[in-house]
Amino acid sequence: MPDLYAVIGNPIAHSKSPLIHAEFSRQTDQDMRYEALLVPLDGFSVAVEAFRKFGGKGMNVTIPFKLEACKISTRLTERAATSQAVNTLVFDDDEILGDNTDGIGLVRDISSNLDFMITGKRVLVMGAGGAARGVLLPLLEHQPKVLTIVNRTKQKALELYQRFFEYGFVIPAGYEDLPGHEFDIVINATSASLSNELPSLPPGIFAAESLAYDMMYGNGSTPFLKFARQQGATHLSDGIGMLVEQAAESFFLWRGLRPETEPVIAMLRPET
Ligand code: NDP
Repeated sequence: MPDLYAVIGNPIAHSKSPLIHAEFSRQTDQDMRYEALLVPLDGFSVAVEAFRKFGGKGMNVTIPFKLEACKISTRLTERAATSQAVNTLVFDDDEILGDNTDGIGLVRDISSNLDFMITGKRVLVMGAGGAARGVLLPLLEHQPKVLTIVNRTKQKALELYQRFFEYGFVIPAGYEDLPGHEFDIVINATSASLSNELPSLPPGIFAAESLAYDMMYGNGSTPFLKFARQQGATHLSDGIGMLVEQAAESFFLWRGLRPETEPVIAMLRPET
C-alpha cells in the first residue's frame, strides 16, 4: 500500500498540488499517493482525524483552513508559530507537526529561480491575510533594508508589525501612506487578483530595476502585473514558482528528498 498524502481545502478542484506531487514522486521514485480532499467548512478537524486513522502520513492545507490547521497541531515550527498559519501537516504516531512552507517557497522562487537578491532591498508586501503572514519571517531572514506591510484595513498591518518587528525593520502602512516611497520588490499577497482588481497603489512606487511579484497564478497577467509593467518594473513574476517551491519543501518534510522544481514550474507555466 503506497504512503498516503492529501491536500485539504474548500474549494479544492482548482488545486495543482496533486499534479505537482505526482511529478515529484515520479522523479524521485517514491511509493506514495496524493489526493485532493474537499471538506465542508465545519468539517476540517474531523476529516484530518479520519485521514490520520486511515494511515495518512501528511497533508497540505489550503483556503480556508490554515488557521485551524495551526490549532490542531501538537507541535509547530517557528515559521508556523510566528505566522499562526499552517500549510503542511506531518503525522507521526501521536504527533501532528504543523509547518508553513509558503514563505520559504516565495523566498526560493525570488532568490534562486528569479535570481533576485532580497538582502538590502526595500520590500513592500501588500496584504495581511494568511499568505502575507506566512512569508514575512522568511523574507526578514534575508535581511531586507526595510519591509513595509501595506493593507487595505490598516489595523491588520499594525497587528502584523507587532508580531514581526523584532525580526527586522518593519513598517506598517495603509495605501494612503505610499506616495513618495519607492520599492525594489513589490509582492502582491492580496486576493485582489482573484477578482481581477488592483489594490489602490499610487504611481511611482517601483524603483529602477524592480521586481513585481504576484502570488496569484494561472490566469495570465493580472491587473497588478499590468500596472507594474506600465510603471516601469523590469522584472515580473506570477506565483507559480512559489507554489511549486512550497510543495517541494512539504515533500522534503515528508520524504526527506528534494525534488527538482524547474521542470515542474516549466510544465505548469503557460507559454507566453
Ligand atoms: P486572505 O483572504 O487571507 O487575505 C486577503 C488579503 O487581501 C487581505 O489582506 C485583504 O485586505 C486583501 N484584499 C482583498 N481584496 C483587496 C483589494 N481589492 N484591494 C486591496 N486589498 C485587498 O487571502 P490569502 O492571504 O490566503 O491569499 C492571498 C493570495 O495569495 C491569493 O491570491 C492566493 O491565491 C495567493 N496565494 C498563493 C500561493 C502560492 O503558492 N503562489 C500560496 C498562498 C496564497 P483586508 O484585510 O482589508 O480585507
